[in-house]
Amino acid sequence: MRKLTLTSALLAGTAMASPAFADGHLLIVDEPLELTIQMNHVRYPTYMEDWPVEVAARAMTNIHLVDDTVGANMRTDENTGKTEALNLMLAGGVIPDIVGSSRIKDFVNQYGPEGAFVPLNDLIAEHAPNLQAFFDERPEIASAISAADGNMYYIPYLPDGKYGRAYFIRTDWLEQLGLERPETVEELEAVLIAFRDGDPNGNGQADEVPYFARQWPELIRLVTLWDGRSSGSDTYHDFYVEGDQLVHPYAQEGYREGIANLARWYEMGLVDAEVFTRGSSTRDYLLGENLGGMTHDWFASTSGYNTTLAGEIEGFAFEALAPPASVSGVRMEEHRRIPIKPDGWAIGASNEHQIETIKYFDFWFTEEGRRLANFGVEGQQYTMVDGEATFTEEFLTNDEPVNKQLYRVGAQLQARGYYQDYRYEAQWSNEFALEGIALYDEGDYLVDQFLGVAFNADEQRVYDRTFSSIRDYMLERQQGWILGNSDVNEDWDAYIATLNDMGYQELLEVMNSAYSRQYGE
Ligand code: CA
Repeated sequence: MRKLTLTSALLAGTAMASPAFADGHLLIVDEPLELTIQMNHVRYPTYMEDWPVEVAARAMTNIHLVDDTVGANMRTDENTGKTEALNLMLAGGVIPDIVGSSRIKDFVNQYGPEGAFVPLNDLIAEHAPNLQAFFDERPEIASAISAADGNMYYIPYLPDGKYGRAYFIRTDWLEQLGLERPETVEELEAVLIAFRDGDPNGNGQADEVPYFARQWPELIRLVTLWDGRSSGSDTYHDFYVEGDQLVHPYAQEGYREGIANLARWYEMGLVDAEVFTRGSSTRDYLLGENLGGMTHDWFASTSGYNTTLAGEIEGFAFEALAPPASVSGVRMEEHRRIPIKPDGWAIGASNEHQIETIKYFDFWFTEEGRRLANFGVEGQQYTMVDGEATFTEEFLTNDEPVNKQLYRVGAQLQARGYYQDYRYEAQWSNEFALEGIALYDEGDYLVDQFLGVAFNADEQRVYDRTFSSIRDYMLERQQGWILGNSDVNEDWDAYIATLNDMGYQELLEVMNSAYSRQYGE
């Protein structure tokens, strides 16, 4: 055991300052118990023992997590869906007591059945009443996270709230040009042309960028306007469920039609010429410079520009737009919050305190633990007002975004298994976001999501052999078509033949065998 020096000092200070912890009803062990943890996420590459949330959790539970993170300097690899840090940890031969990471699902579902992680089902049933109650109420979530052997190997981060991204458009530009909000894809095209030609920012130059996206797949999202799909989940380029079968969106006719039209829009200058390269500052830059007309992005953060730019751009209004009807009349919002993320935490097989650890996981599903994970520490980030955790005015008016402040104190950590509470976000969503959400709610535009599959070893081999090269090929062709290097309609038959040569049909077979095992009956 490591000596408890700094930790004990912090613990004592916090416990005294926060009488809410004092009664000890959440204590898991009488004497402090140390457990090692690997925690790696792109936003916080290592576990910090002095995060105020962790200090409070220690005081409440007597479980002391000790950082043992390997590969903290590695960035998560978005392409493979596994983190390099996890692979490094495994290669090192020592798995800490707890492993928390983004994209941990596929990793534990592969290595758990091989003995590297502890199956959680029995531990939950016997020692984790709050987790058990959650899974009893949401059995589809238990199905979705289970490995091919039927066991759960991680406790996920569970987002709350349905809505994620939406269309946003400069409604003051529409007014300026005497246009209505576009209701169909044809009307949308006319609006984007007017943004291009009508000088809505009034500087006498044709410098407007009609449609932009800080994440370029949000351009591909527009294929839904031609009845294509860009993804079946909140992960870009994912499979989707059609009827009772999984298919890949980038091998469908509607996608071909959509890409042909997006290539046309790109050539017409209706889409940001730099959409593939401009990157994450796109939205800040194009809105701040009064150049961008429309995008598809998150409700809360996008609505925020109405406040931050109000004093800088006269009349600035960037408001949610209901999804325009597609060529066949379908209004679809393809993106939504997924109820389960592949992020969360697991128990390493050599953990000698598995019962205490599952109780610790359960703590974060108690009322107090969930509040701590969502809002931070009482008296620091929030106070209780009429029985509700309410962020302090000081916290909400800080210059730093709320999410970033929360990460910095150890709250809203997605490498922890916890259940998000949407009320944390509603408190800093401005009126534009709440109005937009109401608009989307009224129209009921969301579609069902594919929640992922867990492969057995044979299926995994086929997936590993085929998917990443198939996806790379799909994306390379996709970008080439948009940029006008070649024509999607002329290339289509050869493209499909190449996908089949690369194993697309075999890939579909294993996706669907895993899918029917996991969700059938
Ligand atoms: Ca202009």
